[in-house]
Amino acid sequence: MRKRYISAVLIFILLILSGCQGKVEEQVSDYDGRTFYEIFVRAFKDSDGDGIGDLRGVTDSLDYLEDLGVQGLWLMPINSSPSYHGYDVTDYYSINSQYGTLEDLKELIVEADKRDIMIVMDMVINHTSSEHPWFKEASSSPDSKYRDYYIFTEDEKKSREASPMGAGAPWVKNSIREEYYYALFWGGMPDLNFDNEGLREELKKIAKFYLELGIDGFRLDAAKWIYNNTEDNLQWWREYNSYVKEINPKAVLIGEVWDNISGMEPYAEVLDSFFVFSMGEDIIKGLTWKNLNGIGDKLSASHKRLKEKNPDFVPAPFLSNHDQNRVMNQLMNIDKYKAAAVIYLTMPGTPYIYYGEELGMSGKKPDERIREPFLWSENLKENTQWIDITNDSSIALENQRDKEDSLFNLYKTIINLRKNNPVLRLGDIEALEQDHKEVYAVERTYEESKAYIFVSLAEGESEVNIEKGSYNILYSNINEQESLDTEGKLKLKAREILIIKKAD
Ligand code: CA
Repeated sequence: MRKRYISAVLIFILLILSGCQGKVEEQVSDYDGRTFYEIFVRAFKDSDGDGIGDLRGVTDSLDYLEDLGVQGLWLMPINSSPSYHGYDVTDYYSINSQYGTLEDLKELIVEADKRDIMIVMDMVINHTSSEHPWFKEASSSPDSKYRDYYIFTEDEKKSREASPMGAGAPWVKNSIREEYYYALFWGGMPDLNFDNEGLREELKKIAKFYLELGIDGFRLDAAKWIYNNTEDNLQWWREYNSYVKEINPKAVLIGEVWDNISGMEPYAEVLDSFFVFSMGEDIIKGLTWKNLNGIGDKLSASHKRLKEKNPDFVPAPFLSNHDQNRVMNQLMNIDKYKAAAVIYLTMPGTPYIYYGEELGMSGKKPDERIREPFLWSENLKENTQWIDITNDSSIALENQRDKEDSLFNLYKTIINLRKNNPVLRLGDIEALEQDHKEVYAVERTYEESKAYIFVSLAEGESEVNIEKGSYNILYSNINEQESLDTEGKLKLKAREILIIKKAD
């Protein structure tokens, strides 16, 4: 009797253990390590000749993206909206008519799936547009059921409260009634009231709608501004995430938690991933000051810190996005640009490329200038309706494709290396002990596999110590050799970029 009881307990424990293992593996293979690509649909590819990018244009570009090595897309807002950028939604269940229809989105999902490309869409729920029917009704009739979806006050004193963002005033005068409404970013974007249970349910329904359509997850806009305190934000995202996982256990939530590492860190416990703003800053600052050695230390420390918080968390390194000046305008130098690309695209986690970054597109604020149309070809300028293009059309894709040493081909090579080498996707990262300030040197380890990434901006040779043995050269911008043997010392040439993997 006792024996049978013990074996039943043992079997039960084994079942639980095997169940846990399967779950972790599923998560790892589905999102972790992929290279994602951020798309501003309006600016990407126009399929019908009206001069405005659209969803069919994205579908038409899947071969390009697959060839580039991309395994995931983040679509910036695609829902109905009165603005050109779409971060103020008027209907969460419909697609911006300039971009297409729900049918077009379904087709994109199906075609992307055939190429193993995940699709994540922007979910903008911290606020709606002031033209959203909910807000129109709430702001005009106090008895509306939507009144409590937003935050109103008649208190003059309260309306003069300082913004938690530091600048501007978060309270905006209602043009219809003697009162103020809360709109942290801008009067056209009234904040939603997450204390309202009905609203929370409504927002979950929207998530369900897109998950059932086949969307793989959501990029959560303004994730740290739901409330003005971290605890309440975490509580909401935990609730939202567990709901999303009920619908699809493989769906991912990637937060925009724009903060320093300490501010971002708590969110690693409730979200699957977030953009690690500080990593891009560390890379760009390090390159600006030519302290590449320091970059390795900082990146590996940040990565470890987030993994310690939650081993299943997937950091998303990136250089710049639609809210920041483009990399070219930050670094102003093509060698540093290439160095930045190699460094972040060979990091663990899920790196995000901002469309056009692979061409070296430039642009600095105002925002429209960092969101210019993707330069497929030189003649694009005449065919774009919503904005004039100020980028130099000589960098167009058609001009870079066949040039072996182009920035585009570097991106393509590195992304595909990452795709084909698990150690570059999933390996731990450790900065190598070395004292050359102008050399980035990190070691990646995954199971039995080991790789090293070196980026030198030094004008002379630099010697570094690595594990002795035979290595395959995965990439070098200088030599044609396919492999190298070392007794433990490796000489990098001046301005060399070198990626090697230990031979089996
Ligand atoms: Ca179009």
